[in-house]
Amino acid sequence: MMADKINLEHLDIKGVSRALGKGDFSARELVESYLAEIEQKNPELNCYLEVFKDSCLNEADQADKKLASGQGKVLTGIPLAVKDNILIKGKIVSSASKMLANYQAPYDATVISKLKEQGVVFLGRTNMDEFAMGGSTENSSFGPTKNPYDLERVPGGSSGGSACAVAGNLALGALGSDTGGSIRQPASFCGVVGLKPTYGAVSRFGLMAMASSLDQIGPLAKTVADAEIIFEALAGQDTKDSTSFYKPLVEEEKKKLIVGVPFSLFDEGVDSEVMRIFNDNLEKLKKEGVVIREIELSELKTALACYYIITPAEVSANMARFDGLRYGEKISGDNLLEEYLETRGQLLGREVKRRIILGTFVLSSGYYDAYYGRALTARQKLINAYDKAFTTDGVDLIMTPTAPTPAFRLGEKIDDPIQMYLEDIFTVPVNLAGLPAISIPGGLTKDKLPVGLQFTAPAMAEKRLFNIGRLLEKVKT
Ligand code: GLN
Repeated sequence: MMADKINLEHLDIKGVSRALGKGDFSARELVESYLAEIEQKNPELNCYLEVFKDSCLNEADQADKKLASGQGKVLTGIPLAVKDNILIKGKIVSSASKMLANYQAPYDATVISKLKEQGVVFLGRTNMDEFAMGGSTENSSFGPTKNPYDLERVPGGSSGGSACAVAGNLALGALGSDTGGSIRQPASFCGVVGLKPTYGAVSRFGLMAMASSLDQIGPLAKTVADAEIIFEALAGQDTKDSTSFYKPLVEEEKKKLIVGVPFSLFDEGVDSEVMRIFNDNLEKLKKEGVVIREIELSELKTALACYYIITPAEVSANMARFDGLRYGEKISGDNLLEEYLETRGQLLGREVKRRIILGTFVLSSGYYDAYYGRALTARQKLINAYDKAFTTDGVDLIMTPTAPTPAFRLGEKIDDPIQMYLEDIFTVPVNLAGLPAISIPGGLTKDKLPVGLQFTAPAMAEKRLFNIGRLLEKVKT
């Protein structure tokens, strides 16, 4: 029998962890409440591609046993949602692509093994832009996800399903992946917290690769404390990912925090409501004793162009494996070439194909130096510019809006890739430089749409991001 439904709206991981420990309710009761909520809301929101109905109840029972025997950890019995490009052994993992519609994960991603050890309950896999390419979740092969704040608007992307699940109370927290903003931008559009960790801080083993030099897994959560709890559980060096490395920056308590703001970058193209909310929060931080310092970061202007050369280049290499022979679905043809063309032609979506074509072009001999080579040089300049901001200019953090606009309407930008790419202007530089950044809800526009604030820190200084996030949460009320 199902117990009385728990009111999910005001729950957060920290509070639930305490409640489970005290026995206020069981993990099974909690999961049953989430399943009921999902059943009611998911047909409209389409944030879950699949709900793990049976296995999540089993996992909840296991968690209850663990809790009863006093072996519970902070995430034991906590129901989370997982983006559909992170492998959970035995489950389908499709990256929202027809190509992998029936592909079963043969092993667990490292992040999943870590969460399983803690006794996390996996509610289901969430919708996304196909292979994480996009910023609205409209590039999913299985229909778009809607924004819980306004069903006519996108939730952002590519981790739009995860952000929507958390914002709509269909999960207590979620995992996303971020190559150029895919955790932070949907977090901004859906009014939740989203963290992109330092490149390497979280293992990418078992994450389907989009652009390997930029991809990171990270949490989406309702509060900064919750994002920190999930991040702590995920972070760490992993022998299965040679680019992983984790050594958190140890720092003294600063008397005065200095936040750098590159005001000159906001001249064009930033929505006036986004700017109003940004400035309101700036004033609040000042009142808390934070020093705001204007910085020059003009190198960021090249970041978008640089990202949309480097990313397709890496995408074209990573997508080569989907040839109908090695992974996923296949469409038969008279010969190998035809089979290859049909399989890729029919089973990959438009945006994925666009990037493969662009990527092979910028890498082709004769064009490599003009595009890819130059983009790599620009990337290095960007890294140096951040470095200068954090050392010579002496700022502790850099603050910008997360995205130039609030959530836009479904269909509004889907036929105009450049407009879609412009949404990434503030998020992509951070990935190019490998730095950690967080999006914190800053407030609502006059149309009641959430707007996020992005803070960027030096490598391995995630703690600083959590500290400023907590400060903002405190003054927001
Ligand atoms: N919107 C960006 C893109 O389309 C970011 C994607 C991501 O972070 N996975 O590339």
